Amino acid sequence: MRYRRLVVLLILMIQIGSFAACAKRVEEPARMKKLKVITTLFPLYDMAKRIGAGNADVSLLLPPGVEAHSFEPKPSDIVKINEADVFVYTGKFMEPWAEEVINGVANKNLIVVDASRGTKMIPGIFHDADEPVGSLDPHIWLDFDNAKIMVKNIMRAFQLRDGTNKAFYEQKAKDYDNKLTELDALYRTTLAACKDKEIVYGGHYAFGYMAKRYGLKYLAAQGVSPDAEPTANDLVKLVEQIKKDKIRYVFYEELTSPKIAETIAGETKAKLLLLNAAHNLSRDQFEQGLSFFDILIKDLANMRVGLECK
Ligand SMILES: [Zn+2]
Repeated sequence: MRYRRLVVLLILMIQIGSFAACAKRVEEPARMKKLKVITTLFPLYDMAKRIGAGNADVSLLLPPGVEAHSFEPKPSDIVKINEADVFVYTGKFMEPWAEEVINGVANKNLIVVDASRGTKMIPGIFHDADEPVGSLDPHIWLDFDNAKIMVKNIMRAFQLRDGTNKAFYEQKAKDYDNKLTELDALYRTTLAACKDKEIVYGGHYAFGYMAKRYGLKYLAAQGVSPDAEPTANDLVKLVEQIKKDKIRYVFYEELTSPKIAETIAGETKAKLLLLNAAHNLSRDQFEQGLSFFDILIKDLANMRVGLECK
């Protein structure tokens, strides 16, 4: 009897032991789970996705097709940020809501990346009366040197949270950096060979960094945010400028109504071309898996037409 009890006990112990072993086996992959990363704008999403590759589960806070400057997170977005390992935002000038959200986050392990840290920012054109004094142009990703700093900022956060894959993130960031170098060279040579050096934009002032970098003149119908409608006087001035400089193409922006650009073009017989500042993608573009580089290559092709480059 005592023997049988011993056997039962032994079997139980083995079962518990194997259960414990099973639990351990289940635990192992959990330790290697992917980094959960939340990004605000598309350029950050693209960078984080490529740096994290198979080791990160990256999502974009902006729903597809949504205009970036008017976006504010919903309570469910704040829950998502709270559950993430890494939260990447562009900076306080692009996402003025971010600071309050970050301060309210209960997850003390969350790594927050201000992607603008260390970038060289320039003043923009502001039309909003409520814009704080000293605001800077938030479209930092359109200067490819700044984009490289953003890539590094994201890489460092991934390395901090997942030290075992430090070299992996380093390599992926280097690949991204190399692609930015190639793109910059392509922009530089193409835009140096244009007959025209003036971009007239029927949207908000998003390409200030690019214009400065490649020595182009840049006129936009709105300030750095598309929230403020241009005044009739702004439009009249723009139309006069187009006529005076014999501009043949007016560029329009992504994801908002091209009404302003169409009005200007209608007044001047100029043709329309898209210049996509890559804040966000449409649902179709998401489904097609468009990259930041795809958008910028297409922009350059349109500038080549619009500015009559060789
Ligand atoms: Zn913008």
